Amino acid sequence: MADMADLNPIPDLLAGLYDGLAGDQSGEVATYIPQLSHADPSWFGIALATLDGHVYPAGAAERTFTIQSVSKPFVYALALAGCGLDAVIERIGVEPSGDAFNAIRLEPQTGRPPNPMVNAGAILTTSLVSWERIRAGLGAFAGRDLDIDLAVYDSERLTGDRNRAIAYLMRNAGSLTTDVDETLDVYFRQCAILVTARDLAVMAATLANAGVNPITGVAVVGPDVAADVLTVMATCGMYDFAGEWLLRVGLPAKSGVSGGIAAALPGQFGIGLFSPPLDARGNSVRAIAACEELSARFGLHLMRSPDSSVPSLADVVTARTVRSSAARTRTERDILTRSGGAITIRGILGDLGFATAERLVREIAEHLDGVSWIVLDLDRVGRLHPVAERLLDTLASRLADAGVTTVVTDRSSRGLLSYPDRQFVTRDEALTWCEDALLRRVTGTH
Ligand code: GLN
Repeated sequence: MADMADLNPIPDLLAGLYDGLAGDQSGEVATYIPQLSHADPSWFGIALATLDGHVYPAGAAERTFTIQSVSKPFVYALALAGCGLDAVIERIGVEPSGDAFNAIRLEPQTGRPPNPMVNAGAILTTSLVSWERIRAGLGAFAGRDLDIDLAVYDSERLTGDRNRAIAYLMRNAGSLTTDVDETLDVYFRQCAILVTARDLAVMAATLANAGVNPITGVAVVGPDVAADVLTVMATCGMYDFAGEWLLRVGLPAKSGVSGGIAAALPGQFGIGLFSPPLDARGNSVRAIAACEELSARFGLHLMRSPDSSVPSLADVVTARTVRSSAARTRTERDILTRSGGAITIRGILGDLGFATAERLVREIAEHLDGVSWIVLDLDRVGRLHPVAERLLDTLASRLADAGVTTVVTDRSSRGLLSYPDRQFVTRDEALTWCEDALLRRVTGTH
């Protein structure tokens, strides 16, 4: 029998992607940081990390390289976590600049940089976070301690006059308030942190996983910060290619001049790629092509990744036909057969997002004739999106006003809703409780 691992199609799929692009010789390795020019143009690695912590590698997924600008979204995440969104936006805009990564263009009056994904905004972002926090934070995103490449750091420090110019301009305009040399020293160190394609995949997967590293389980940042960072990656992550990238690939992503790209599909996976030859905008040629192909072949575009629109209602039954396991007398059984229509039971399946919850509340509201008790069996519901929780909660409170009792069943006792009249662990307990109530009403006992 074949090795079980061979049956999984994903490794072959990534290997196919790798093989198809490995021969592409186009693009140029960055040379403006002298040390980066030593990169071998044939290096090419891909890794995909799932949100339950499985990593699929292809090619040179374990080769280290300096993270460069791919550090920007992660340091931005740390700045947001430390200072809050409003305070950070006041200092650094979030408008795609349409400019190159090293553009020298600031907001005329304030000197505020356009966004945190180009150098100006990234340098200012770095000024909001300590080096210790950056190193530890990026390590937490990757799930391991990260080293720095001192040769690349030195090389950039000695030649980084353009970044120095940007920093002095911001300092002059009053937008950068820390010492230029100290801030750039941290920025150059941050860019020289060594990662692999595998690390980038895990880092991106952490953002896709609402800020929780899928391998270590550590909540590196909160879900709001993770969503904010993914948003800024989507609009500004690919420099002056950001718009076309979002159109063609549709994944929040960030690239860097050493040839790395980290991209994520929220709630689904993270992917890390590495290949040094760059196109004219400074984005890795093979990494871009791999993402384009992956997205097109599997329909992974953000705007196409739908909230499940299949009906999530598994079954609707009434107590007329379905009985609890409670022992009932002949008379009680007769009553339940006659009047059991007053109790409806709905087994709900899958994730509840806006679309699926809307169908559910509409369906319930339209079928209330003669109904006094509604059992909502949420046991097989996976993710309950906040909007679904709100809709169900509001419906339950309105039903209560209309004299209809809502009873929720959920084995994992998540305490999902605040308004239902009763919560039970099993459907049988819920049904028993409703039957008892119905029997009391019909027989006039209390
Ligand atoms: N350290 C590089 C720089 O500031 C990062 C730029 C990049 O990766 N696009 O020039």
